Amino acid sequence: MTTPVTSPAGSELLRLHGVRKSFGDHVVLRDVDLTVEPGQCVVLIGASGSGKSTLLRCVNLLEVVDDGVITFEGRDITDPRVDGDEVRSRMGMVFQAYNLFPHLDVIGNVTLALRLVHGVGAEEARARGLAMLERVGLSAKAAARPDDLSGGQQQRVAIARALVANPRLMLLDEVTSALDPELVGEVLDLLTDLKGEGVTMLLNTHEMGFARDVADEVCFLHDGHIHERGRPEQVLGDPQQERTRAFLSRIR
Ligand code: ADP
Ligand code: MG
Repeated sequence: MTTPVTSPAGSELLRLHGVRKSFGDHVVLRDVDLTVEPGQCVVLIGASGSGKSTLLRCVNLLEVVDDGVITFEGRDITDPRVDGDEVRSRMGMVFQAYNLFPHLDVIGNVTLALRLVHGVGAEEARARGLAMLERVGLSAKAAARPDDLSGGQQQRVAIARALVANPRLMLLDEVTSALDPELVGEVLDLLTDLKGEGVTMLLNTHEMGFARDVADEVCFLHDGHIHERGRPEQVLGDPQQERTRAFLSRIR
């Protein structure tokens, strides 16, 4: 095991400890330990089926863990008494398929949860939505329908929608995997900008160049377990585990 990126106890925003998750008798996550500190970008890599999406879904309480503890902002969110909607309202999640509402225009998509979940009034929601669209470079598209946008633009709208409520943590599940190759760059550039602005991110991707350039820590998942973690130059450039080497040689 390579040296984990160390952090002073208690400074983390998110901590997973001993997380285990099965579907039936299929163990999908085992003994997963992970921390994310404010402002960090932590990238999960691993083959298809290694458990990356399930891990993100457990953090977002879309899946219930079987064992272990997840703390977010210092609070145990695996406690069954925790209000999942409230926790989710403090995280932003973006998926591979952007899942925009086709019948709403762009600004409507970006402001819907602000209004319905966060109780922000129409005027303020619109102002915040437009400011967010500006930030992702799409202010000219506020009145467009999702169908009239490219895939890269739609994904940037989905990211704006997740960011507009000022989440403490962004979870991004292969957000460029559904895009045509020429559209991947604009979304990765946006994520790079967000990292520069101090947005905290936990994401999974197959874009190793992005992981190398932007991640603070890379975690290699194999069969539901983090087999290797560390600085990107270490895990990607000088992997210590045979499994990590085999994975990296397959995708390069
Ligand atoms: P990855 O995102 O790394 O490709 P996933 O987290 O999607 O991996 O899946 C990990 C494993 O868990 C896979 O074997 C997948 O088939 C299984 N799995 C994921 N979600 C479910 C589910 N809801 N029910 C049963 N099996 C699931
Ligand atoms: Mg996945």
